[in-house]
Amino acid sequence: MITVKNLKKQFGSNVVLDGINLEVKEGEVLAIIGPSGSGKSTLLRCLNLLEKPDAGELIIGDKKINVKKMSSKETYQLRQQTAMVFQHYNLFKNKTALENVTEALIIAKKMKKPEAEKIAMEILNQVGLGDKVHQYPVTLSGGQQQRVGIARALAVNPYAILFDEPTSALDPEWISEVLQVIKKIAEQNSTMIIVTHEMQFAEEVADRVIFMADGNIIEENTPKEFFHNPQSPRTKQFLRRLG
Ligand code: ATP
Ligand code: MG
Repeated sequence: MITVKNLKKQFGSNVVLDGINLEVKEGEVLAIIGPSGSGKSTLLRCLNLLEKPDAGELIIGDKKINVKKMSSKETYQLRQQTAMVFQHYNLFKNKTALENVTEALIIAKKMKKPEAEKIAMEILNQVGLGDKVHQYPVTLSGGQQQRVGIARALAVNPYAILFDEPTSALDPEWISEVLQVIKKIAEQNSTMIIVTHEMQFAEEVADRVIFMADGNIIEENTPKEFFHNPQSPRTKQFLRRLG
């Protein structure tokens, strides 16, 4: 289970997370949607402690911290609980697909190279890149690069995977192959939080949808209710504009 209690973050006077409370059950797929600037990426980055929250409590699996008094050891341990998949892949350009995946295993999991390569090969196969493992990112399509990004996240076997708009930098022709891979992972009972602008995908893959605006959770519901019977005026307006 992931539990977020009264999570706060501001940049200068800009309050970006205004006391977020959230629970995600083990194996649950949560989709987060909302307008640009509403704090979606900041929330994911705070869960992974890429951004240091100002206040609040985070529990991810068996690791728990109060962000106001966390030691560097606790920070490290909590960070290991999640893996991020970024909009712009964030791959090492001077490393092959295989090396991008083994890197995390060798550094974070302290694995020996042969063991790391065995696991990385299996996972690259799983995301359909078994024949591209020795290629550098620049020789891969956007969709293939993002699948390397996903393989890298999967490889470390985190408690939860955090996706930040995994398809929004992709050409339309590459979007569906990446969504298919994410769907497959969701079906394996992984705990996932997905920030996305792909409403149809969110409806298909998520167990629950959250709508964020101005650093607050405005509405949360099952995908069916959320998309077909939205309650709050902000949600209705947001969905109408897209539709
Ligand atoms: P989008 O849909 O465009 O990705 P978002 O919901 O992910 O938007 P965030 O990236 O979380 O929004 O940004 C929320 C607010 O926080 C914005 O006003 C943004 O300018 C601000 N912000 C984010 N990161 C920083 C930072 N490192 N320094 C200063 N302000 C920041
Ligand atoms: Mg964002």
